[in-house]
Amino acid sequence: RSRSFHAHPPSPVDGAHDPHNALAHLAPPPSQSQTHAGPSTGPLAGWSASVKANLCTRDMPTTCGSAMLRDYTSPFDATVVQRLRAAGAVVVGKTNCDEFGMGSANVHSLHGPVLNPAAPAATALGHNEEGGRQRHRTYHEPRVAGGSSGGAAASVRAGLCRVALASDTGGSIRLPASYCGVWGLKPSYGLLSRWGLVAYADSLDTVGILARSCEDIRTTFDVLSEYDPKDPSAIPEETRRKAKEVADSALPRKGSLKGVRIGVPREYFPAELEPQVVPCVQRALARLRDAGATLHSVSLPSTPQALSTYYVLASAEASSNLARYDGVRYGHRSDDTAGIDDGSTHAYAATRSSGFGAEAQRRILLGTYALTADAFDNYFLQAQRTRLRIQHDFDSVLRLPSVLRASPGPAARDAGVDVLLSPSSVRTAPTLESMLPASDGAAPPQGAAARASPYVQDVLTVPASLAGLPALSVPAGVAQDGWPVGVSLTTQWGCEELLWRVGEALE
Ligand code: GLN
Repeated sequence: RSRSFHAHPPSPVDGAHDPHNALAHLAPPPSQSQTHAGPSTGPLAGWSASVKANLCTRDMPTTCGSAMLRDYTSPFDATVVQRLRAAGAVVVGKTNCDEFGMGSANVHSLHGPVLNPAAPAATALGHNEEGGRQRHRTYHEPRVAGGSSGGAAASVRAGLCRVALASDTGGSIRLPASYCGVWGLKPSYGLLSRWGLVAYADSLDTVGILARSCEDIRTTFDVLSEYDPKDPSAIPEETRRKAKEVADSALPRKGSLKGVRIGVPREYFPAELEPQVVPCVQRALARLRDAGATLHSVSLPSTPQALSTYYVLASAEASSNLARYDGVRYGHRSDDTAGIDDGSTHAYAATRSSGFGAEAQRRILLGTYALTADAFDNYFLQAQRTRLRIQHDFDSVLRLPSVLRASPGPAARDAGVDVLLSPSSVRTAPTLESMLPASDGAAPPQGAAARASPYVQDVLTVPASLAGLPALSVPAGVAQDGWPVGVSLTTQWGCEELLWRVGEALE
């Protein structure tokens, strides 16, 4: 923790109760809370929930993991938080995350890094001093929980709550879910309200859910998935109904996957994939086959372009969204206001340089560059075109048509697949040491490659984000090193129902 790049305030939660640094803030005791304790009836009555630090709550700060919003408390609850509370859930705290959702390891946070609670059972046989055999605790080098929703995944895994609300722009729920061995859903874009979610990249941002079972994810999804007039990208009820009908037409009889076609995309086994992940994927596939599904190799040829496409678009949108943090309207303001009365912009630069961490500043620079007149055609427009190709790739292998666009569909519908299965990440959780940013001014310890590697973590999660499709990361056992592996199920827009059916077969 001492090497986090921001000097961070001590955790408000006793280290003994939150040794993984999952929580940024604890909910105030009910007597001091402005919000009523949840009703004692409702589908989530008695459930404890955590909420990511970029979702607005009126009884706790919404820092987004950034010094920029260190002291910010929203005057309202995000729609999803309102719905959660109205259904009876009790919010226990706000979870740690990478600054504004930018990161894959939860090491870029005002609140310090999150530690992964899923360490393998820590015993091994060794010898004591007298030469006898004895059980020893083995030491596991600390590993990251994944990001950006590392706090959310750790809060569920460590048992601090039953369900976690978080956000997923390019994998921020699925990656930590995979690293921590819990379930994580990125819903179809536009189904869960973004009102009160602090924007990172609007065209990709989704609110999603983490829990310890498929059933808990589904119950929470049903509570939250409703049209919200306050969210301009919310999909109207009529379209949701149509998608549900499409999904229903492909649902197998309960308890069997007979007739379900599972696609395995060839491009999702890239060179970066650790070999120890593969047996877990194979076991998951075998279970689906045993349940009656058929397995089919498919190709999504634009996949290798997805990562660069994502980072151009996400950074471009982020540079525009983060422009609002100028020290004038809200948030952190630098004391260095030299020349402000003479029209100097120095004060804004001083505020933004001291309020944003290094990773957010990198994204702002990259995104601003992609949007300049000189670079626009070559970067931003190219990325938009590739995004369309990635969407087209999915539509051309999925059997169910998209209700959002006239999708080409597979040449023959019978040749299409219902659900795609792939690894959620290329490896098990990396060590904290390997992911910590270099301390200020110091050269990166392992050269530029070390900086690039965090981005490679997202290579398997960003395609579904670019296409707006629902994806569910399912725990798939542990790898040889003893740490969790996740597999991701992806399907057509609005067909979450199919994910539950296939997910349950892997429970
Ligand atoms: N790791 C990706 C990024 O840094 C995804 C983050 C997210 O989904 N919020 O942009």
